Amino acid sequence: MFEPHHNALLKWYATSGRIDLPIRHLKGANAPYEVYVSEIMSQQTQIGVVLDKFYPPFLKAMPTLKALARAKLEQVLLLWQGLGYYARAKNLHKSAQICCEKHGGQLPNDYQALRALPGVGDYTANAILCFGYKQAVGVVDANVSRVLLRLFALDPKSPNLAKLLQAKALEFLNLDNPFDHNQALIDLGALVCTPANPACLLCPLQQACKGKHDLKSFSVAKKPPSTPITKHYGVCLQGGFLYLSCAKKGLYAHLHQIPLLKEQEQIHLPLLAQVRHSYTKYRLSAKIYEATLADLDPTDLVKIPLKDFKNTPKSALSLKIMDALPHLKF
Ligand code: SF4
Repeated sequence: MFEPHHNALLKWYATSGRIDLPIRHLKGANAPYEVYVSEIMSQQTQIGVVLDKFYPPFLKAMPTLKALARAKLEQVLLLWQGLGYYARAKNLHKSAQICCEKHGGQLPNDYQALRALPGVGDYTANAILCFGYKQAVGVVDANVSRVLLRLFALDPKSPNLAKLLQAKALEFLNLDNPFDHNQALIDLGALVCTPANPACLLCPLQQACKGKHDLKSFSVAKKPPSTPITKHYGVCLQGGFLYLSCAKKGLYAHLHQIPLLKEQEQIHLPLLAQVRHSYTKYRLSAKIYEATLADLDPTDLVKIPLKDFKNTPKSALSLKIMDALPHLKF
């Protein structure tokens, strides 16, 4: 029933899709691991940036799942530096260790076992199965969800929407070429069936699309805008040591950060820089001051030799602060 639409989609993919991305041509026994790393890295970061800056050095240092499992967490965090959302790196590391303990050093090739790994959700599990193990499963990310909602005119408020989309992805799957079909749908959502103003006239699925004349009814509502917040941080350098905060638990565990000031209201310290940073639902304006030890929030405070700072895992915000203060030669 879908054959003409499958063919139109693959034809479009061959000429207009991102077919040249190196991660679309992974082969051999290590492919599931390589897919896994690329999928986790690109969860919150554009794929172009991931492939330019982060993926090659990570794979060079951690070429296999076993190598990743053996590595120290600190080394993994250093390789992740700049990508942010470090929970992803910690989960990747933990998953590699679980795979070594329970699955003979390989990623499992079944859905339930993959979903049991920390940080592996429906999308990632199916991406590993399809793009790594070449299995015929539907792969539903945000781009594909948007296409399917519109293509089948589905109500975005449907109960169990995620399950419904997964079922539709399977119903629409091209069993002759699930790999390219899924990659093509991802690209179609990213390049043509965009959140605002989809280019329906260029879409290979326009003949089949049931929702194209009422996009508002078949699109997920926009996310609410992020919340602006301001926080004040202190750079304290004394006797060749830099004072940092390093939590043992929580979102920023094992990451070194420029510490918050004890006082967040009335500040009379020299302002060094101001940095903007977005995380979760916040838009942070970070103000950075020259501070003494007494000015710093003492929670989780540590001191490290300034010369070691470069090789210490840092939060994305701390990297931005370093860049804003080049004269301090961090
Ligand atoms: S016809 Fe338009 S709305 Fe439908 S899938 Fe294509 S781009 Fe999206």
